[in-house]
Amino acid sequence: MPEQTQSPLVKPLKIAIIGNPNVGKSTIFNQLTGLSQKIGNYPGVTVDKKIGMMNYQGSTYEIIDLPGTYSLYPNSEDEIIAHRVLNQLSEVERPDYVLMVIDSLQLSRGMFLASQLIDLGLNLALVLNMSDLAEKHDLEIKGFELFKALGVPILNTDARGSKGLEQIRELIHQKNFSKKSQFLQVDDFIDSSLLQDIKEKFDLSNDYQAYQILRFGLKDKIDSLNINLESAQLEETKLRYRKITGIIEKVLVKKEDRKESSNTIDKIILHPVFGYLVFASILLVIFQAIFAWATV
Ligand code: GDP
Repeated sequence: MPEQTQSPLVKPLKIAIIGNPNVGKSTIFNQLTGLSQKIGNYPGVTVDKKIGMMNYQGSTYEIIDLPGTYSLYPNSEDEIIAHRVLNQLSEVERPDYVLMVIDSLQLSRGMFLASQLIDLGLNLALVLNMSDLAEKHDLEIKGFELFKALGVPILNTDARGSKGLEQIRELIHQKNFSKKSQFLQVDDFIDSSLLQDIKEKFDLSNDYQAYQILRFGLKDKIDSLNINLESAQLEETKLRYRKITGIIEKVLVKKEDRKESSNTIDKIILHPVFGYLVFASILLVIFQAIFAWATV
């Protein structure tokens, strides 16, 4: 049967790739989009806007490589872009799906941004990249445990070695992203009546988006309201890291812990004195088994 191709009239779904700087976003973007890339500009800033098309199983997807960001607290020009796109504060349309790339060696740092994206209610999937380096450092991330804790699909990749890319294409094609509404309770760090006002005013349904707009989108108006948004942000950061630390303890295994016990056994059986004693005891048991117990 001929493969069904997408009609050129259908607008391709937009997938944004986001993550901390240097986690492998561009490597993944390049592999997904091949040569079909366009570089433009975001209005008013010098940050490159990288867009490419991914063709897979007869469908076309628009992939956007967002500038690297550590959090949704916009400090640099790059972070302002990511913040504006994901909060729908920009002229650029909000993506339909978000693929967040995390460096497997920097799980906690990546999870900070991931937890904020979850709170924004985005359709999200996580890619734990640099799995080759994790392996080299004897680190294991329990993917299913992490999935249970965060509620979003998780893939492992070694983008430089082109491993796991097919799974990303398939995940995008199957639209296997998930929208987990909350990581933190937003009213744990900001007054809920204030959030309610913003939600009504801007016709929003998401608490964290309302908080983001309050914190970063309405700066001039907020000064007159006399609320301390810096201390709210500090409290948010503390709560986020506390929860993330709890999750990391469950999902991150240093294989040395396991090796430790086998090292202890090695130390005993390879010891110049105890080693022979263990060897003699084993021989004795075998001898007993053949001559004494076998008669029964
Ligand atoms: P970006 O800043 O997030 O776009 O990161 P890049 O795609 O530019 O990658 C940063 C560096 O990490 C480059 O030198 C890549 O070759 C390398 N890199 C990307 N993915 C992997 C991976 O899975 N394993 C390893 N070992 N290196 C990677």
